[in-house]
Amino acid sequence: MKKNDKSNLPMRTIDKSVLEGIVGKDNIKTDPSDLYIYGTDSSVHHAMPWAVVKPRTTAHVQGIMKYANKNLIPVIARGGGSGMCGQTVPIHGGIILDMKSMNKILEINLEDVYCRVEPGVVDDDLNLALEQYGVFYPPTPASSRIATIGGEIANNASGVRSVKYGATRDAVLGMKVVLPNGDLVSLGAHTRVEASGYQLHKLMVGSEGTLGIVVEATLSFVPIPEFRCMGVANFDVLEDAGKAIGSIMASGATPSMLELVDDVAIKAVNKTMDLGLKEVAAALIFEADGMVKEAVDYEINKMKKICEKHNGKDIHASYDPAERAKIFMGRKKLFPALSKYDDDLASTALADDMAVPYSKMAEMAAKIHEIADKNNIVMTAYGHCGSGCMHTKILMDTKRKDQWASAKKAISQVYEYVRSVNGTTSAEHGIGISKAESFKVEKADSLNLLITIKKALDPNNILNPGKLMQAPENWVTATNLRYAVNN
Ligand SMILES: Cc1cc2nc3c(=O)[nH]c(=O)nc-3n(C[C@H](O)[C@H](O)[C@H](O)COP(=O)(O)OP(=O)(O)OC[C@H]3O[C@@H](n4cnc5c(N)ncnc54)[C@H](O)[C@@H]3O)c2cc1C
Repeated sequence: MKKNDKSNLPMRTIDKSVLEGIVGKDNIKTDPSDLYIYGTDSSVHHAMPWAVVKPRTTAHVQGIMKYANKNLIPVIARGGGSGMCGQTVPIHGGIILDMKSMNKILEINLEDVYCRVEPGVVDDDLNLALEQYGVFYPPTPASSRIATIGGEIANNASGVRSVKYGATRDAVLGMKVVLPNGDLVSLGAHTRVEASGYQLHKLMVGSEGTLGIVVEATLSFVPIPEFRCMGVANFDVLEDAGKAIGSIMASGATPSMLELVDDVAIKAVNKTMDLGLKEVAAALIFEADGMVKEAVDYEINKMKKICEKHNGKDIHASYDPAERAKIFMGRKKLFPALSKYDDDLASTALADDMAVPYSKMAEMAAKIHEIADKNNIVMTAYGHCGSGCMHTKILMDTKRKDQWASAKKAISQVYEYVRSVNGTTSAEHGIGISKAESFKVEKADSLNLLITIKKALDPNNILNPGKLMQAPENWVTATNLRYAVNN
């Protein structure tokens, strides 16, 4: 380790009595079984923290940060722990700051069209509270039952409706942040636009807990549309579905949802649910919404015609909530269904949420299948294709070391392709540890700038060290995993 390189922090002793003095005895866990659970998230990785602390106030967070900064102890903020890339895995140990107890909705301001929330508010809970006023918070990821606003901000989460309404970054107007030295700063404003200097609140979005701890967020919301119509089209040829995506997005239509599922995904859903989906090469699910029915009709018809032009079949659409739920059910339940595709194979999040230009969506999906075949593993292609986002999951026998080696080869081939078409490593799930190798290649030109920003805000490197550009090279192998791997 170089003299001033603080990216590999050695283990330091935590004085439990100091932590107790800050947050109280009941808000600290050091039992090994608790620490074990907090050692992983929804990624493949695992590492043990030294303590878990549950702050209930901003003052608690400030106290912990001051103590940690002085004693060079890593601090990793954690919301719902649903991050898929190891963002909350404490690879250098330290304190897990479980933010879920800071979960108050502080204000719903209908006149100025914003709400203020604490970071531990769960996305679904926020939307439930907003619903009674006829409005909703749209960036909502599929994990909205557990994902917290703090985690969504730190990952710049997005979801099925982001194609029309934007990602988390678009909805964040401002926030309060505790810096590594314990200082509290207010960033952004309570207005829709701001041109007053550096937009530091936007910098915090997507920073994966490496620059500051979000303790309050001001978020915009939008009216719940009066009309929603959802449609589906099947395709015998994957490329045709890909072409339809590009044509829809270039047509001036504004889908409120445009999702792709491939044949592996459809088979997985059929295996686990009685939906009787046609086992075609691909299906597109599309939706239009709005306050005027004629306008929604116009959008939906436009999308139907484009699918037809690209050889889509079985095309139908419905306003009926039950029918819409039926159309979307397969996509909604896809993630758990993939785990049951084959009893011997687990669904792992490794290279799982790239984005590519629209014209490359079909090629990307085909490439995923080609790479899977070449490496003798099963991979699927699906995603929020209206946003250019292509998900894949690697289905493999996690006990087999050779499968991990194949997976590693496959993901580097996927990322190589993504970069070759000017795509990006992560569209929504973030970088964490799993995707850091590709992230560093993709951002080679700006890597020094990113490191400079991190050093300026966190000179002692205590906030979530070892993530993003600091992530070690060799973590996506059969080590440091939450799975037991045979030799
Ligand atoms: C089944 C499933 C489906 C998913 N679907 C989607 C999807 O559709 N779209 C999508 O974008 N993601 C999706 N995800 C990934 C993940 O759920 C989201 O990224 C989500 O935003 C993470 O929220 P969390 O509260 O669980 O954060 P965590 O996993 O707890 O943390 C994520 C990051 O946020 C940081 N963090 C947490 N709280 C704070 C805070 N207060 N201040 C600073 N940093 C903080 C952590 O340090 C970490 O770096 C999915 C995950 C699963 C398991």
